[in-house]
Amino acid sequence: MNENAAVAVIGAGPAGLIAADVLSAAGKRVAVFERMPSVARKFLIAGRGGLNLTHSEPFERFIQRYGDAAPQLAPMLRAFTPSDLIAWAEGLGQETFVGSSGRVFPKAMKASPLLRALLRRLADRGVAIHTSATWLGWDESGALRFAHGGPPPFRASATLLTLGGASWPRLGSNGLWAEALRERGVEVAPFRPANVGFNVAWSEHFRDRFAGQPLKTIALRCGAHAVRGEAMVTRYGLEGGALYALSAELRARAPVTIHIDLKPALTKAGIEAKLGKAKPGDSLSSTLRKALGLSPLAVGLLHEAGPPPREAAALAALIKAVPVRLIAAQGLERAISSAGGIAWSAVDEDLQLRALPGVYVAGEMLDWEAPTGGYLLQASFATGVWAAHAILSR
Ligand SMILES: Cc1cc2nc3c(=O)[nH]c(=O)nc-3n(C[C@H](O)[C@H](O)[C@H](O)COP(=O)(O)OP(=O)(O)OC[C@H]3O[C@@H](n4cnc5c(N)ncnc54)[C@H](O)[C@@H]3O)c2cc1C
Repeated sequence: MNENAAVAVIGAGPAGLIAADVLSAAGKRVAVFERMPSVARKFLIAGRGGLNLTHSEPFERFIQRYGDAAPQLAPMLRAFTPSDLIAWAEGLGQETFVGSSGRVFPKAMKASPLLRALLRRLADRGVAIHTSATWLGWDESGALRFAHGGPPPFRASATLLTLGGASWPRLGSNGLWAEALRERGVEVAPFRPANVGFNVAWSEHFRDRFAGQPLKTIALRCGAHAVRGEAMVTRYGLEGGALYALSAELRARAPVTIHIDLKPALTKAGIEAKLGKAKPGDSLSSTLRKALGLSPLAVGLLHEAGPPPREAAALAALIKAVPVRLIAAQGLERAISSAGGIAWSAVDEDLQLRALPGVYVAGEMLDWEAPTGGYLLQASFATGVWAAHAILSR
């Protein structure tokens, strides 16, 4: 290949854009290709929720959030840590802060100022960004091939694919790239929804009254796994952080009955003691509200499981473990991220495809998943940086 040819980065999300930043900072010519009419749409949507960039918890706990892919991602997350990501954002003029849960956000609480500053820096370094450029694969000569109406075939010195996963396809990452790679002998695990809500057959009364309300400071249990957090009641079922933290487990076991602990800070005996102090004349709802501070939603949830027992011990046991039947996960189109993607066995330690030397991959298109909490963006950025450094040291 031509020594002066540019590195092609295909897919202008967080992974691709940070890679373009690293490559161009080192003086490489870079051309970015993006299938949508504008860049980083998913990143901008992520910003609507405040843009949870990363997490401040100790690294040993942080890395565990990546489950089965933790061993593969560990060197990349050590090379580009949450502190490095914070420094990078701050270098682009975006000060950050640590929220009460340990999550890290830009003070602007949105993605657009960070994105604008990054695009300005890339433009200053001469990085060409081609939008409405859907990559389809390679032509017979090995040049990158784009859909009709897009750029002409492009001959790159190296190619970095950062095409994202398959969730929220209308934002751009639709996973259709998988076929082009499979045809070339790259193993791609099927996409599955991660960080997604589950359908629950709520009663009509419960759905009408409580959809849109959060269950705060609860714990969810599924088999041996338990997480504390929040969940949101929706018309279709249940979603939110506590559920997302159990994504892989719930997806594997659904339909499955989970148990919600409405008072994780209290023991069953502690709840019983508080119930025992209630006024004899009080209704069940006011007892639960006054003695335990349960919200109308929490009380409603107890009723969803059937008529609540009056006897204190049985009621305390129910409050510690309200059964909720999760019927099925919502689809990829409603998932915050996807599991599946390029198998780790298909890449070398540089994130170069073994079947296609000179072609690197990064971001959510690799086969890893993590809960919400900043872990998704952190690994997308870290793998982008890793692949860019690997290209630089070619
Ligand atoms: C609603 C929502 C909220 C989120 N909030 C957070 C959050 O607060 N914190 C967090 O850590 N994560 C969050 N995420 C997840 C996070 O946004 C993603 O994990 C991250 O954007 C993945 O980065 P990526 O660069 O790998 O892929 P993407 O951001 O998906 O970018 C891939 C790009 O490749 C382009 N592309 C795809 N196919 C082609 C093709 N054939 N040719 C050319 N271009 C192509 C796509 O259009 C896209 O622009 C959220 C996601 C959603 C949907």
